[in-house]
Order: sequence, then C-alpha cells, then structure tokens
Amino acid sequence: MSRVRVDVHTHLGRHGTHVRGPLAEDEIRAWGRVSWDVTVEQHAAAAAAADTSIVLAFDAEPVGVVVPNDYVAAAVAGRPQLIGFASVNPTRPDASYRLADAVEKLGLRGLKLGPTYQHFHPHSKQCLDLLEVANHYELPVIWHQGTTFTRAAVAEYARPVQLDLVARRFPKLRMWIAHFGHPWMAETASVIRRHEHFYVDVSAMDTRPWQLAQALAAAAEYRVLDRVLFGSDFPFSTVEQTVAGLRRAAALCRSLGIADISDNHVDDICSRDALSLLGIDRPTVAVK
Ligand SMILES: [Zn+2]
Repeated sequence: MSRVRVDVHTHLGRHGTHVRGPLAEDEIRAWGRVSWDVTVEQHAAAAAAADTSIVLAFDAEPVGVVVPNDYVAAAVAGRPQLIGFASVNPTRPDASYRLADAVEKLGLRGLKLGPTYQHFHPHSKQCLDLLEVANHYELPVIWHQGTTFTRAAVAEYARPVQLDLVARRFPKLRMWIAHFGHPWMAETASVIRRHEHFYVDVSAMDTRPWQLAQALAAAAEYRVLDRVLFGSDFPFSTVEQTVAGLRRAAALCRSLGIADISDNHVDDICSRDALSLLGIDRPTVAVK
C-alpha cells in the first residue's frame, strides 16, 4: 500500500456536544449508527496513517453542528502532523472578524465552507465578503459542495457549478470541492478544469464504488487527474479504506473500459503534495 502524504479532509468532535440537532438525528436515521464522535486523541491516532492531515472546524448551526475554531486549534497544538482549518458561517454578522481571529489568534490555515449546511448561497454578498478575507490571508478554502444525508440541508445551494463564479471572482484563491461534488462528479470536473487553482478530494467516496469510478473517469476525461487530492473524511472513512476504495474504483474503470486508471494514478493521488498545491507549505502568519 502506498503511503499517504496528505489527508486533506478529517473531522473530530463529540456527538451530543459538537454534533447535535438534526444532523445528529439524521446520521442515525441514514446510517443506523453514530460515526461522528471522535476525541482529540482518537483523531490523532487515526491521523498517524498519513504524513499530514488537515483537521476541519465546522460552523454549521443550522444543522446542529459546531466544531469550534478554538477547539480545532487546541487539538492541533503540539502536533505538527496536523493542520487546523477554521470554519465560519458567512451569515454571522461578525464573520469577517471571526475568520481574521482564527488566522491571527488561533493560527488556523484554511477555511471550510458548506453552503448546504450553513444555509447561504455561494454568490451571496455575505459569502463573497468572507472570501475577500480568505483571499487577503491566502487561505485555501474547502467547499462541501454536493449532496448530504441531513434533512436540514438546503439542496439548492449545493451544486458545484455555483463555484464557477467564485473561482472567476477570486482567481488566485486555492479552493477544492470535497467528496468530488457527489453526485455531480462530471459537473465538478468540468468546473475545476477551467480554473488554475481549483482541486477536488475523494473523501468518503469509497463507500460508493460506482460513483468513485465515475469520478476518476470524469477526472481522466477532463484531464484533471492531477487535481485530485486524497481525503478520507475520517471518521466516516479511514485512510486505509480510502486507498482500498481508490484501487477498487480504478480496477472497475479498467474492467469496464471507461478509463485507463492505473495503480500508478492511485499512487499519485496518495502521494500528491497537497500542502504545496494549496499554498500551506509557506510560513504561517505569526500568531499574536
Ligand atoms: Zn467531511
């Protein structure tokens, strides 16, 4: 098995404390069990499967989830293999200040947004204003743009194509779409191909082999295989499950004759230097 260099998509947080309300209830309804209940120590142990892991805060009160920025900052402190990302809901009146604080006071290195969970349109003034702050600090932005199980989400804010305007407005901003924008994989590939700094991750796609095979085929057809980043979506999938899922999907592409995805392509995804591509290998802003 190839060693994973950067896992760009992991979560922590406790069920009942950080993960509550409709999302916590719908997780049980949709999956029959609770996965999102991870201590800092459990997360750090799982993250040892990759050289470096990005850990995401999540400010999604409309669906009952708040994994605070300072909680993530404390979890990554003293663990150089972990990189913390902030999350700020653009609809908060003080959103820009919260993001600036997350960078300058907490040392967080990126921004997680999920319009479908946070109930805002990617073209809204509130969102574009917050992205000005991300642009100022050269923060990479991860978007959950795609479907989700929770009934409290807003589906019409979830289409990957909505990010085309954002990428045109902020051409230097590093961004990526999580979960390959499922179930709109081809739409995702067609959007990111047009923008130099736009990427995609394969997190949680190992549970849907046919969609992952279609995602890899779309990446090959639109010539963006080199933009595919490794993500696990831990605790929903592990690094090991994700690597195995990629190998299975590559074999499925070959056996169906839909795309020539080799084991070398999978190795490339696993060993991709995502930190450099996302601009996170630069020295951090000094924490005040
Ligand atoms: Zn996730």
